[in-house]
Amino acid sequence: MYFDSHAHYDDRRFDDDRHEALLSLAENGISNITNIGSDIKTSKKSVALAEKYDFIYAAVGVHPHEVKDMQDADLLEIANLSKHKKVVAIGEIGLDYYYDHSPREAQRYWFKKQMKLAYDLKLPVVIHSRDATEDTIKICKESKIHGGIIHCFSGSVETAEIYLDLGYHISFAGPVTFKNSKSLPEVAKIVPEDRLLIETDCPYMAPEPHRGKRNCSVYVKYVAEKIADLRGVSAEHIAKITSDNAKKLFNIK
Ligand SMILES: [Zn+2]
Repeated sequence: MYFDSHAHYDDRRFDDDRHEALLSLAENGISNITNIGSDIKTSKKSVALAEKYDFIYAAVGVHPHEVKDMQDADLLEIANLSKHKKVVAIGEIGLDYYYDHSPREAQRYWFKKQMKLAYDLKLPVVIHSRDATEDTIKICKESKIHGGIIHCFSGSVETAEIYLDLGYHISFAGPVTFKNSKSLPEVAKIVPEDRLLIETDCPYMAPEPHRGKRNCSVYVKYVAEKIADLRGVSAEHIAKITSDNAKKLFNIK
């Protein structure tokens, strides 16, 4: 059974069939999901999904795209939401210099603030970093953590090694299956067993052979199969270790 460590079932693309999609997961090999918030509204929706479905856990936080209007009151709201017993992480937070939907200074400011909040709350962090490796590493080095995930990892072996040294988990999504992915197959081979995670980031990032379509947790098996193949182990083994790792990191009994 697979643990999809990063999904967005609050997304409107699931509005027509969310309940059916979620109910069909167990029979398709999915045991657990962490649904990730990206602003206050979707963080609340993540908590609501976790309340409604046993197998769903929630992360709450404000994505770099959305921090342009963030205020201290929002940080307080995140702290309040995190008190719910099924909130297992702060995220997704980080830096996105590819889209630059928020000014970079605001991105760095609220990333640091939310890193500090997660540390104070004794929760792990879920980090989004795109075209911002240098600054993400800098902030990660300055911040103390109770564990963390570099979500949908897309960097080099060298970058992965820096995050691993800092105590982070590396999570792979659809891109590791893409035919043009250059460094990811190499990274997938070197991440230690106890730091490896898999995710879909659904509805985004569908893996091969479903690239371009709406993604769902069932497709996490393609990510696992690709990693298993690269590491010369079985997909069942990848399912087991990534599921154990997710439970340990998210402190799920
Ligand atoms: Zn995401």
